Amino acid sequence: MAINKQNEKTPMPEQDPIVRAANFDEVSTGYTTEMAINEATRCLDCKHRPCVGGCPVNIEIPDFIKCIIQGDFEGSYQVIKQTNSLPAVCGRVCPQESQCEIKCVRGIKGEPVAIGRLERFVADYHMKNVEDTVKRAKLNGHRVAVVGSGPAGLTCAGDLAKMGYEVTIFEAFHTAGGVLMYGIPEFRLPKDVVQKEISSLRDLGVKIETNMVIGKILSIEELFEDGFEAVFVGSGAGLPNFMGIPGEGLLGVMSANEFLTRINLMKAHLDEYDTPIRRAHSVAVVGGGNVAMDAARCAKRLGSESVYVVYRRGESEMPARLEEVHHAKQEGIEFLFLTAPVEIHGDAEGNVNSIECVKMELGEPDASGRRRPVEIKDSNHLLDVDMVIAAIGNSPNPLIRMSTPGLEANRRGCLIVNEDTLMTTRDGVFAGGDAVTGAATVILAMGAGKQAAMEIDKYIQEQ
Ligand code: FAD
Ligand code: SF4
Repeated sequence: MAINKQNEKTPMPEQDPIVRAANFDEVSTGYTTEMAINEATRCLDCKHRPCVGGCPVNIEIPDFIKCIIQGDFEGSYQVIKQTNSLPAVCGRVCPQESQCEIKCVRGIKGEPVAIGRLERFVADYHMKNVEDTVKRAKLNGHRVAVVGSGPAGLTCAGDLAKMGYEVTIFEAFHTAGGVLMYGIPEFRLPKDVVQKEISSLRDLGVKIETNMVIGKILSIEELFEDGFEAVFVGSGAGLPNFMGIPGEGLLGVMSANEFLTRINLMKAHLDEYDTPIRRAHSVAVVGGGNVAMDAARCAKRLGSESVYVVYRRGESEMPARLEEVHHAKQEGIEFLFLTAPVEIHGDAEGNVNSIECVKMELGEPDASGRRRPVEIKDSNHLLDVDMVIAAIGNSPNPLIRMSTPGLEANRRGCLIVNEDTLMTTRDGVFAGGDAVTGAATVILAMGAGKQAAMEIDKYIQEQ
């Protein structure tokens, strides 16, 4: 088929912004077959394959795209599946614009090939049309425990089960999936997509025990006493950071994690659920990452008239995915760039009634390489809001570290591991994902889970 010279990506159909800002249904509805083939024919099948090097798990991108052009969508899915265990998730939430797509040759003169949209297309095709036939591996007589059921834990558990290990995942929440279930909202990542991936792990023989807080109900030492020969800790970074400004104890101030968990996991937005949630008139979300975008867009969907994103740097420094920022703007979220909060004010009953902010300007680059925001003197101003959501980052919860002798963490609370083996400072305990890196991405967590599975296998076979 001839190369499609179209300079822009084939657009993906989306719900109208006004309609979708009042519902939790998925924003983008995905490519049709014709759209997918049209987009796939933009790929030049480059010899040196720069896009593959941009993918953290090295998906053979031109090969899966070639299968789409040939109409072999299941073949395309199988190419992706060789290196990525959660294609339907990654096709939706990976920051392709800074990974594979930034390397795409078509991006030099126009827009890169829409690799993420094509990945989502083939994953959705597979889910709708192909019945998975899982062949369980013969058990090898060894047992491994996995703490946490986010992308790191799920990937590690799946890979070990395929090698014949008897794997049990221990998850603190009542539902498995980690951030994919409790953090990322339904309108970006439908929960049935995540649960489908989890049920295929169960088909592989992985046991999942929910409501099991390791470090409280059972310790890691007790897991070893129970006969597990190695433990993988993929407990994420679920402890929210706060701003450390006066007024954070007022009613109506909460972390984005709590706000999102109440909605995504505890269905506070649905009438048939009792979960309480504040439906504010006017909300300030402090932060500039994906978590801030998700919290702001959820607040809008709960009915808040004004939703402000307060971010201390400029738009180009925002860490959120471009697509999410674009969608948030379309839905009416207002962005206050170069603005930082200094105090939250309340009324006589202790409810938030405004947030005091200052204007910032960008100075010299800091240790992260980004220009440091510097306060402009006498720029204080008030923003009338009745809710403030802090979305300024998360750290690993210290529970596991504090309850496990010999497990060491760095000053950010991240578990210390040997980079080659992913073994922690406690023999037989491996770790990966956000618990080690701090808040990062789904694909990096999956990559760590994959590496840990190989290292755990080596470790057990050498015992
Ligand atoms: P998690 O997904 O955090 O899973 C850890 C699991 O461990 C949780 O289920 C937790 O309940 C469980 N756990 C914790 N402690 C214990 C314990 N003591 N005992 C038992 N279980 C325990 N990344 C992207 O790539 N794209 C995005 O668009 C994106 N959006 C995001 C939006 C939000 C709101 C958030 C919060 C994060 C987002 N991320 C995104 C980041 C991404 O989700 C994480 O980097 C990724 O989920 C980390 O995976 P993980 O497996 O390490 O941890
Ligand atoms: Fe296709 Fe772009 Fe990869 Fe080249 S860099 S093979 S055009 S996706």
